[in-house]
Amino acid sequence: MKMMMNKYELKRILLDWFFPNRCPLCGKVIGRMDYICDKCACEFEYNEKEESLCGGRLLSVCRYNKKTSPVVIGAKKHRDGSKISFMAYTLVQKITGCYETLPDVIVPVPIYYTDKIRKGYSHTEKICREISEITGIPTVNAVAKTRKTAQQKTLGKKERESNLDNCFTVTEPTKINGKHILIIDDVTTTGATLTEMYKTINDCEGCLCAAIDFAVFART
Ligand SMILES: [Zn+2]
Repeated sequence: MKMMMNKYELKRILLDWFFPNRCPLCGKVIGRMDYICDKCACEFEYNEKEESLCGGRLLSVCRYNKKTSPVVIGAKKHRDGSKISFMAYTLVQKITGCYETLPDVIVPVPIYYTDKIRKGYSHTEKICREISEITGIPTVNAVAKTRKTAQQKTLGKKERESNLDNCFTVTEPTKINGKHILIIDDVTTTGATLTEMYKTINDCEGCLCAAIDFAVFART
């Protein structure tokens, strides 16, 4: 654990040389090991409400609103390291505060491979890797997205229901079999993506998870 923290600290120090660390909410330059400025930290509201989904827990760090949406967009579309780190850090706070025994593995909601090539990264995977670096819980890319889907918000109710059908496949069943897994995504609205992830894992032969929970940064 200690070695992992040192490696993690070193990475943040190196990053800070090239891109000064900024507060993800107001843009003010902050210390290289900080995640948020003091003023925004005082004002940041954690979502205390806990929900359940598909028989598991659904944890969310905060509500999706005018203040938090730029964090999600910066992480998702602009590879903004300060925002990715902030999402990871706040998810760690949430996860460690909610579990006495931490989940065995974290599984990012995957993006389609052409999207990953175009963007050069997957933001959910980056968030998960950073959570792993802080907590030691391994990230397992156990599920792949096997077809492109339309953005849920652009569709009507009927199209939405079938849009995600069978869009995921478990690629590494042995790595999650028997484990308590925590599926991580940036935002959830109706829970449709998370539910499809759950169905995919639950229907996969040779893969019986001890528990399947969910954690997202923002809840709309
Ligand atoms: Zn700030």
